[in-house]
Amino acid sequence: MDQTMQEAYDLDRQYVLHSWSVQGKLSPKVISKGEGIYFWDGEGNRYADFASQLVNLNLGHNHPKVVEAIKKQADDMCFIGPQFVAPSRSRLAKKIIDLLPDSFGKCFFTVGGADANENAMKIARACTGKQKIITRYRSYHGATYGAISLTGDPRRPPVEPGVPGIVRVFDPYCYRCSFGLTYPECGLRCAESVREVIMYENPDTVAAVFFESVTGSNGIFVPPAGYMERIEAICRELGILLVCDEVMTGFGRTGTMFGFQNFDITPDIVTMAKGVNSGYIPLGVVAVSSKLAKYFDENMLYCGLTYSGHPIACAAALGNLEAMEEDKLVDNSSAMGALFKAELEKLAKKHAYIGDVRGIGLFTCLEMVKDRESREPLTPWNGPAGPMAHVSKALLDNGIAAYIRWNYIFLTPPIIINETELMDAVARIDAALTQAEPAIAQ
Ligand code: PLP
Repeated sequence: MDQTMQEAYDLDRQYVLHSWSVQGKLSPKVISKGEGIYFWDGEGNRYADFASQLVNLNLGHNHPKVVEAIKKQADDMCFIGPQFVAPSRSRLAKKIIDLLPDSFGKCFFTVGGADANENAMKIARACTGKQKIITRYRSYHGATYGAISLTGDPRRPPVEPGVPGIVRVFDPYCYRCSFGLTYPECGLRCAESVREVIMYENPDTVAAVFFESVTGSNGIFVPPAGYMERIEAICRELGILLVCDEVMTGFGRTGTMFGFQNFDITPDIVTMAKGVNSGYIPLGVVAVSSKLAKYFDENMLYCGLTYSGHPIACAAALGNLEAMEEDKLVDNSSAMGALFKAELEKLAKKHAYIGDVRGIGLFTCLEMVKDRESREPLTPWNGPAGPMAHVSKALLDNGIAAYIRWNYIFLTPPIIINETELMDAVARIDAALTQAEPAIAQ
């Protein structure tokens, strides 16, 4: 590592607190540059970014169209507050509403995913006059106080019991069904249990069902056919809003523009962030139906942020969406995703400790097990990395940067990826799994 890189590392270790980490155990890589699906560390090693950083860099590193949009907006006007009309903000709001079903009317802009969910929660409570929100155990909705309260995964300890009124239900996790059933004989027991919980809670106290359309960082669970449709029907029957958290699944990630478009449903509120502008500038969105938007024609919207719809972030999003359209990147995600899943299924035949291959579009996950029969996880849920540490190391040794959590390997490359890049990565993943095998077997 040269002197500049070494200095950056030393300053980081002395002054920077990193997310979700015991600081003393960290030795993060210094990154010197990124381009397309790749980035390089301070020692010149190249990695294929199969995490798209935090599943936000949908268009990969330094996409010229997004960079250009940022530069142009910075030249024109860096910032104008949310009390004024900013051309990039207005144009983006229309663009997003045009991408959604006809029932959608307006957008409230935020700075990221967590505050999009915070504000969606406030809007749902304001419009319905009800307080409770139904979320799932295996969910992540962000780390701010309200969003982490919505969240079901075990990142809540510092805020327990969190904001009141959050009621959690079981997940459509078919590989490990909470009810011990198998699809389709299960009759969608997981969806029916949502109705049962709402009935016990009293529908008149429930404002919204608040779900990721496809569960992300808790293991990529693509709901089985009919599940989301049944959830929507329960919401309509009981007079409850349906909120889809599309922070991770939005903007082509699942092979459709939004994850919910894989199902025959129309949510009332959709939250977004990450892929909206590939994370080049922080931005989040709460899109609401015209009916909900109308409520605020006569009532105060008790939501506000200095950086609500930052003009440069909105311009970056417009550049991002333009590039997506021009290069047909949603279709690319769908096509590359299908190819990737087929290749991963081939790897599963070869590597016995792959228990499950699942995903949709370029939103895929390998679930690692000790034994396929028993399905015992290679490392326990919410436990130490154990043998998965060998997998992480082997992937990096083979030039693949992937997000690993518990016994899951998340494989979510930028949606600009082409077939050559994808097949090169498959060979590297294969080599990494082979490399890790002896250490895992011990
Ligand atoms: N919702 C989902 C589904 C997410 O995956 C995330 C982040 O990973 C968030 C919300 C929070 O977004 P942010 O980190 O931008 O606050």
